[in-house]
Amino acid sequence: MHRRKKIIILSHCILNQNSVVHPLARAKGAYTAIVQKILNEEIGMIQLPCPELLHLGEDRPPTTKKDYDTPEFRQLCNTLLQNPMLQIKEYQRNGYEILGILGINESPTCSLLKERGILMEEFEAALTDAEIILPVLGVPTDYLEGIEHESFFAELDDFLQV
Ligand code: SF4
Repeated sequence: MHRRKKIIILSHCILNQNSVVHPLARAKGAYTAIVQKILNEEIGMIQLPCPELLHLGEDRPPTTKKDYDTPEFRQLCNTLLQNPMLQIKEYQRNGYEILGILGINESPTCSLLKERGILMEEFEAALTDAEIILPVLGVPTDYLEGIEHESFFAELDDFLQV
């Protein structure tokens, strides 16, 4: 079977909303409309880990970036990023196109807005060390599964080069 050789990197909870802080889930399982669009384009996915789930657990309270910003949490993020970094390098070495990173706006860990989340700060540093530059896009704070979000999906089309 011919491969499209296109891959997108996703924040963990785009594929698994069970990982988010309880009151903040915005879909029952996954962000189905987003994932379906990626599937329709036959783009492969690399799911980043969820550091918050592993650090404070499934029933953690909402926590600020300032509170997460400890050497232990940054170390956890760096450890968890080793696997995706190896995958990205291996795919790039073999001619795959990594379309970019889709994060979660305003997350203390996974935001890709100007004020990055801690995982994304560490990810950006690891990518810079490896001389890899990737486009980024974030799921908007007002995204809710089942509700129309035309402007975001237009941005997603551009991001996926549809
Ligand atoms: S840490 Fe990242 S992956 Fe985990 S729930 Fe928060 S935004 Fe999603």
